[in-house]
Amino acid sequence: MNIFMKSTRRKTNAPLGVHVSIAGKISGAVERAHELGCTAMQIFSRSPRMWAAKGLDPAEVTRFRELRERFGISPLVVHASYLINLATPEGALKRRSVEALIDELDRADRLGANYLVVHVGSCSDGGSVEGVERVREALADVLASGQWSTRLLLEDTAGERGDVGANLEEIGMIVKGLPGGARVGVCLDTCHLFAAGYDISKPDGVERVARLVKETIGLDRVKVIHGNDSKKGLNCRVDRHQHIGHGGIGLKGFRAWLNHPAFRDIPMILETPKDSPEADPRNLKIVRDLVGSSTVSKEGRA
Ligand SMILES: [Zn+2]
Ligand SMILES: [Zn+2]
Repeated sequence: MNIFMKSTRRKTNAPLGVHVSIAGKISGAVERAHELGCTAMQIFSRSPRMWAAKGLDPAEVTRFRELRERFGISPLVVHASYLINLATPEGALKRRSVEALIDELDRADRLGANYLVVHVGSCSDGGSVEGVERVREALADVLASGQWSTRLLLEDTAGERGDVGANLEEIGMIVKGLPGGARVGVCLDTCHLFAAGYDISKPDGVERVARLVKETIGLDRVKVIHGNDSKKGLNCRVDRHQHIGHGGIGLKGFRAWLNHPAFRDIPMILETPKDSPEADPRNLKIVRDLVGSSTVSKEGRA
């Protein structure tokens, strides 16, 4: 309403990118990200659904780092394997998960990644104090076993059956007071938040989540946002990503999120469906257009 405020509304330059495939050569991922105009990017450094992983080729690591430097893409985020489960009560799976997470950190570090994102896992008593305690123990084991330049980030989950980390209080409980916990940050996924019951489709919902993050996790711990719309409705407890603006969060929700002082400067990575070659460029453009756009514009036409 106020002309002065409007004219000084800051357009954020927060890094923005997508998750890119490493199919072929891992260095090809940097070229793909650059071609899309990404200033941030995310990859898997290995197949995320198999325990076995091939070692990184030293020549490819060098090429990857050179290209990334040349294109000025930062941050680089690596997403860890989906098999890792730090919440499990089973000893063998827990040991395997701790080892796999250490290996993921080693690989991410070699690639020069700023962050490694991991889902903490699930268990039949998910959401219980015991589940949270097991995650803390496993993380303490990981952190005690090495030092990496890559920072570990815990991602909030959609709240599918047994998921740990679907509510912000739980993530706060995991990271606070953790031995070595200053080295652990958080990645918030907008789809997962919505699926877990946080209504970020409206400005007041985004404001509530910002306040809650501040109280439970601390805003400075949130290093990356996964920007995804949700195919299913609020509190659906199902993890199905949708194109930006085409799901339950919608353009109104993303506009509020992208321009909120708590979130607007945090790097965002899109993990939206790649169902056509135009999908990534289109989703990136939508996000760029929403940044700095007025919250009182023509919602209906979106
Ligand atoms: Zn995500
Ligand atoms: Zn997801």
